[in-house]
Amino acid sequence: MTKEEKKRREFIKKMAGLGVLGLAAAAGIYSARHLKAEELKLRPPGAVEEDQFLALCIKCGQCLQVCPYDSIILEGLDGKAGVGTAYIDPDRRGCYLCKAFPCILACPSGALDHEKDDIKYVHMGMAVIVNEKACLALYNKPVPDSAIDAIYEHSLALSKEERREKKIKDEANPSEKRELQVELLKKLEKFRGKDCTICADLCPYHPDPSLAIGMVAKNGGYIPEIREKCVGCGACVELCPTDVLKIVPRATYEEIYGKRG
Ligand code: SF4
Ligand code: SF4
Ligand code: SF4
Repeated sequence: MTKEEKKRREFIKKMAGLGVLGLAAAAGIYSARHLKAEELKLRPPGAVEEDQFLALCIKCGQCLQVCPYDSIILEGLDGKAGVGTAYIDPDRRGCYLCKAFPCILACPSGALDHEKDDIKYVHMGMAVIVNEKACLALYNKPVPDSAIDAIYEHSLALSKEERREKKIKDEANPSEKRELQVELLKKLEKFRGKDCTICADLCPYHPDPSLAIGMVAKNGGYIPEIREKCVGCGACVELCPTDVLKIVPRATYEEIYGKRG
């Protein structure tokens, strides 16, 4: 087991030891600093085991060129894995689990395994609730405009003016990238000033997002519940207005939440 894997296992053990109810408490101990540590980078879907991935990724950027959501970025000079290694920062932009996984198909080196170009093989990590008290739904609070506006910053398919004015035009012949990003923004617009169920309603797990996440009643409000089929794509992390969720890269449901049933 590599040093990286050991650290991750220790972290997961700690989370699992606290139990699901303790995950919120764990946020205080294992906050963004740990979850975003270099050794816990979230890799694109289809990524092989971390050691192999680091050996195989030739830093060509093909995966990010075909990603219609601009989800994949490349590590910079400060990245431990080497400049140009592909990763996803869910605080910036999650993966939207494209049906045909163009990123996987574009990878020429085997770092993203072509045999895993189907949702049933995708396993990027696991979502965890790290700050339950911040959840708007728990207090039946409406989604503020600022939360929706912030998402426009990631949508590079929009013009500068559209991003600034938060207005999107329908185009006669939009590129697939523009079409998908506009569609996502339109879905988000519906939540302005409404009760927040964004994480559960916009989870891209297909065909049935309710197998990955759902809202459950608690103390007169609601909170998200992470379920077995979560693949750790990070869309819920990106879209949550109040940073309630994080992803533990490569962790499994069992590692975080214990045995099923
Ligand atoms: S599945 Fe789609 S959204 Fe996710 S990284 Fe690949 S190309 Fe991007
Ligand atoms: S396409 Fe494959 S080899 Fe190229 S940067 Fe992406 S993961 Fe690495
Ligand atoms: S709950 Fe859904 S959106 Fe969140 S990481 Fe899991 S699969 Fe992705």
